[in-house]
Amino acid sequence: MMRREAVITRDLPLPLPTLDNREFYAAARRGELCFQRCATCGRFRHYPRPLCPSCLSRDFAWERSTGRGTVFTWTIVRGPTLPAFEGNLPYNVVDVVMGEGVHFVSQILDCPPEAIHAGMPVETVFVPVSDEITLVKFRRVRSEDRQSR
Ligand SMILES: [Zn+2]
Repeated sequence: MMRREAVITRDLPLPLPTLDNREFYAAARRGELCFQRCATCGRFRHYPRPLCPSCLSRDFAWERSTGRGTVFTWTIVRGPTLPAFEGNLPYNVVDVVMGEGVHFVSQILDCPPEAIHAGMPVETVFVPVSDEITLVKFRRVRSEDRQSR
């Protein structure tokens, strides 16, 4: 199997930081995955937003994630796609359940489509794509890595 690396092009459409998510992207620039945690009911949430979806509290703090989770579900994009992504075809889009319980939609790097399966352990990888934006992606956790934790 040929090893594939993700291709990051200059034309990649990038997320726009907002009042709600700017702390998320600031953490990603530092190489940290952070989620909002409700100060009232204690639940984590992602995507970033001003109200807790469980109890509607506005009080929260940012907490660092373990950066580890497991694949909940996924799809393989074989095209057509936006021109900026054509160099990556076929590529995966995964829904990962993080250790904190939140779902995080992203991509597993350097992983052939046939290797992805539900329950597969993954960990975060930080991919800087501009001065402001670092994308949070995943890589497989090898069994020897799991045993050493
Ligand atoms: Zn809450």
